[in-house]
Amino acid sequence: MSVIAEGLSIPGTRRMMPLPMRVDGVEEGGPWRMTFVTSPDDCNLACDMCPGHSPLGPGPRRPPRRLDAGLVLAVLAERAGSPLREVIPSTMGEPLLWSGLAALASACAAAGPRLNVTTNGTFPGRGARGWAALLAPVTRDLKLSWNGATAATAERLMAGLRFEEAVAAVREFLEVRDAVAAAGGSRCRVSFQVTAQEENVAELPEIVRLAARLGVERVKLNHLQPRLPGLSARALSRDEAGRARWNEAVRRCRAAAAEAELPGGGRVLLENAVEWPAAGAPAPEPGPCPFLGREAWVLADGAFAPCPHPAAAEGALGRFGDVSTSTVGELWRGAALATLRASYRDHPICRECSFRRPGGAS
Ligand code: SF4
Repeated sequence: MSVIAEGLSIPGTRRMMPLPMRVDGVEEGGPWRMTFVTSPDDCNLACDMCPGHSPLGPGPRRPPRRLDAGLVLAVLAERAGSPLREVIPSTMGEPLLWSGLAALASACAAAGPRLNVTTNGTFPGRGARGWAALLAPVTRDLKLSWNGATAATAERLMAGLRFEEAVAAVREFLEVRDAVAAAGGSRCRVSFQVTAQEENVAELPEIVRLAARLGVERVKLNHLQPRLPGLSARALSRDEAGRARWNEAVRRCRAAAAEAELPGGGRVLLENAVEWPAAGAPAPEPGPCPFLGREAWVLADGAFAPCPHPAAAEGALGRFGDVSTSTVGELWRGAALATLRASYRDHPICRECSFRRPGGAS
């Protein structure tokens, strides 16, 4: 028996498109969404927060890892007729630098799944208009990494970014997106994805207002995951004062989202703007894993992974096979994944996993 357990928001609206899901939380026919780690070591910026490219870290891997585009297309073909509805090209590195993206967009346009793209907003190669012409018709959501409301903050956190050019690129992308929709095509939602930290917490409400002025429909706030030692002091969760600054920013962001109107009407959808409880309050109970039995990852070497936790890529949750030697259907039904689904609540990594807590995944 299927139940409606969650939904995809429909671009340009607040409505949700229901997703069928089994009552035990497992989508039996395969993942509804797949992420391909296409080009994690390729980027034209060096953001402080990025484990691979940060000036505070060891720098990108040499030689860079790249997922074979032919393998991605073969997986899409194998998934035809399955519950697969959405495809994400790499959320690490800059996916617009991956040579297979145009072919992936064409394959999605032909086969039905929509793309979900996270980009740094520089639109390398084709420029914002060129990328919009390719991506907007086949993309459900385009997330722009956006970390400041001022040039000084944005350019400090994302080394190599030119803030005014990024703002102009957003306008250009939205113009093409709107033209595609006006001509009867689908309407790709555009979002800002923000890594909240000490350096930009004071600018978060203004980022929401900037989104509204530009016509960016959604602002998603993520907390900094201080995976590099030099980032620890920036995490707002590290002490009471930081937590208070976050809570104040949440209140001001909500007010900004309520006040600022999008050019076409409506308000910015604000996500993960959740206040932390007061000091001493019990930590919220972890929820279920948002990914197991629903989504799947293919790493740059073709390995299959059950979730985006870095430990999964390192094999610490188990070995789940490889899409170059098995089909996704076989791996989805395999013993390794079934064992993790049955036992993850007792796994030490899953017990502490931030994805199971408010703001961890959306
Ligand atoms: S590490 Fe987190 S996201 Fe991965 S399977 Fe465990 S609970 Fe789920």
